[in-house]
Amino acid sequence: MTELPVAGRAHVRRAVAGLIRDDRGAVAQMVLFNALAAIAGLAGPWLLGRIIDTVTAGPAPVGVVDRLALAVLLCTIVQIILARTALAVGYRFGERTAARVRERFLDRALALPASVVERVPAGDLTARGTVDVGTVAATLRDAIPEVLIAAVQALFVLVAVFLLDPLLGAVALLGLAGIPVVTRWYLRRARTAYLEEGAAGSVLADELASTIAGTRTVEALGLRDRRTAVADEAIHRARHTRLRTLSLRSVLFPAVDVSYVVPVVGVLLVGGALYIDGRLSLGAVAACALYLRQLAVPLDAILVWLEQLQSSGASFARVEGLAAIPPAVVTERAAPAGDRIEVRGVRYAYEGDRDVLRGVDLTVRPGERLALVGPSGAGKSTLGRLLTGVDRPRAGSLTVGGVEISRLPPGLLRRQVVLVTQEHHVFRDAVRDNLTLAAPDATDDELISALAVVGADWATDLPDGLDTRLGGDGFVLDGAQAQQLALARVVLADPHTVVLDEATALLDPTTARDAERALAAVLHDRTVIAIAHRLQTAHDADRVAVMDGGRLVELGTHDDLVAAGGTYANLWRTWHG
Ligand code: ADP
Repeated sequence: MTELPVAGRAHVRRAVAGLIRDDRGAVAQMVLFNALAAIAGLAGPWLLGRIIDTVTAGPAPVGVVDRLALAVLLCTIVQIILARTALAVGYRFGERTAARVRERFLDRALALPASVVERVPAGDLTARGTVDVGTVAATLRDAIPEVLIAAVQALFVLVAVFLLDPLLGAVALLGLAGIPVVTRWYLRRARTAYLEEGAAGSVLADELASTIAGTRTVEALGLRDRRTAVADEAIHRARHTRLRTLSLRSVLFPAVDVSYVVPVVGVLLVGGALYIDGRLSLGAVAACALYLRQLAVPLDAILVWLEQLQSSGASFARVEGLAAIPPAVVTERAAPAGDRIEVRGVRYAYEGDRDVLRGVDLTVRPGERLALVGPSGAGKSTLGRLLTGVDRPRAGSLTVGGVEISRLPPGLLRRQVVLVTQEHHVFRDAVRDNLTLAAPDATDDELISALAVVGADWATDLPDGLDTRLGGDGFVLDGAQAQQLALARVVLADPHTVVLDEATALLDPTTARDAERALAAVLHDRTVIAIAHRLQTAHDADRVAVMDGGRLVELGTHDDLVAAGGTYANLWRTWHG
């Protein structure tokens, strides 16, 4: 199985820039309110410095000190209000943007070509759509606004120290130099570590999902120990990758904590010397020290979120990875001219270059019943998939009415060819929605008559009619009913050709008679290409196409092929006894 791609750094940066551009009004507001809040925050220590200088200058009128103290209080209140406003704007930006990321992921996941969805592990797509999208959304909502606030604050604090005294500013910057060093050390390792952690999470989800999906097989074949071992291995890897990211953090945080104290100490030492020399007031030194103490809060916020930004950067790279997959090609707008299906020189390989179809030519005549027979692994189902446009051939063409089948948009495709198998998915939705998937514009009368064609009389007796919800808490269908629903969809799609995979369409014997009748009603008046596993189907067909080793080896009526004494004649003799 191939994994889904992960987006590169440049792509992630572009995507983030795009998200910000899409909501630039909110971002501008956020920056503005933050800047104002930061300025209000700077007033406090400066005013305190003024108080100190006023007091040290000699006996000061109490009124002056009181007025300065009142100004400190007012500035703090204004700062709180502005910061809250900025945060509120930020949260709204975050929620809106998270919703956009979710919607885009869903659109992309739904646009993935069926051949890709079949090939990638289901757990990977699920983990990206849940865990990764959740991480990104949480980051957008919490981290981005707070990091922005902190960055603006830190910048203003440093500027304030420089304005008070450039030398102290330089000392402070020097004292902070350790932080970028540890942070770079951390960042260089973190992206890989978090990507590994995410990948290990996907593998774990996938292993558990497949064990659960295959519970019966696991029980029946006594595979419990083996599956437990596989799960243990996945858990071990998940734990190992998690410990790795934890150990990176256990270096980062203590180193950073120490780094906060260094500039304060430096400023007190140098500032003290300057004060003794009489080159700086005590108030200015005190204000600088207070500013640098203040700096710890925004820097801490940035570093805490840096960690989250790393893990969500990795998550975002996984979410954006879907963009790297070319969507299913649906370029053809021309409607097919006629119902004739032509297969010309078709070659197809699932993986690598081992062709499982090795040059197939076939013309399906409108209205005929064509049986595809041949040994298991001959390529019958693969040809069936290509005929229904699930995937494109590696070489050659499959056309309906002169138009390449795999290039038809879904709405046009389902009016041409539909695959009928035993996979009857019932969506947890109303009966109506389960049916209109196949014909979005169908009226209720058309839905009811489609249900009648397949003998789904039970549907008309449902408590809420077509609005009855199916599955889960709603009305639960049995296997035969699910099949009728699936067949009603085919009736509604109304394709001129049906590819019937008999191997999987074989029915529960207790309901076989009803199901056969429903199927016969659906196939009536359509071209049928039956992947036959019972030679009786071949016997009853208009023509029989025999496949072997990825090629069409015989084609003709049952009688002709039996008379010709080739592969089919042998099969028939063996089967007939
Ligand atoms: P048939 O329907 O005649 O039994 P298939 O079309 O199912 O044959 O298979 C043809 C060949 O393609 C076989 O060798 C099979 O192993 C291979 N094959 C079928 N499905 C897949 C798949 N999803 N991935 C890789 N190989 C596949």
